[in-house]
Amino acid sequence: MGFMSVLSFAHKLIGERLQPGDRAIDATAGTGQDTLFLARISGRRGQVYAFDIQSEALALTRKRLDREQEARLAEVTLLERSHAELEEALPGELRGTVGAIMFNLGYLPAEGADANVITLTDSTLAALKSSLRLLRPRGIITIVLYPGHAGGDAEANAVEQWAASLPASTGQAIVYRQIQKPTAPYLIAIEKR
Ligand code: SAH
Repeated sequence: MGFMSVLSFAHKLIGERLQPGDRAIDATAGTGQDTLFLARISGRRGQVYAFDIQSEALALTRKRLDREQEARLAEVTLLERSHAELEEALPGELRGTVGAIMFNLGYLPAEGADANVITLTDSTLAALKSSLRLLRPRGIITIVLYPGHAGGDAEANAVEQWAASLPASTGQAIVYRQIQKPTAPYLIAIEKR
């Protein structure tokens, strides 16, 4: 029992909106969990772009996709670049066409990975602003935030403030959070109008 995990809830919100053939972006590839999820939903005719600044994360993501051996996965492009460069890194024709963009902030949870490499407020906010331009109407952004580590709390506050201040004409922003555990990961989702 209990409520759905933050990650499962993000997947549910995206699963209800992303369609086969859609374009999607994983802004923080990490170990590739969300990249694989997006590639399954957008399917053979879909396109997924996954960003990470660590080659190690992209290698883990590639490995996860290769293990899948599913002919039905979308074509996945891995980009070793900061999500702050989301718009420069992607073909211009993507603007206004992307169905879903996922962020899972913090550090790479892999053995031997450097826990000091974390997502940072300024680049995260830049990427989120770009994401709104890349999304199609009714497209969705999900952001898993980690207020439990140093730096993560300030980043989470900044993202929450930014999302709360979006005009309703831009979209709807929601929070999914266990309010008895202020340091636990939580979710912000934005549906573009
Ligand atoms: N904290 C999550 C996983 C997050 S992985 C968990 O515990 O499950 C976050 C990924 O974001 C890491 O692999 C890290 O390398 C990547 N990252 C950090 N800064 C980035 C940036 N500016 N652009 C793209 N990826 C970045």
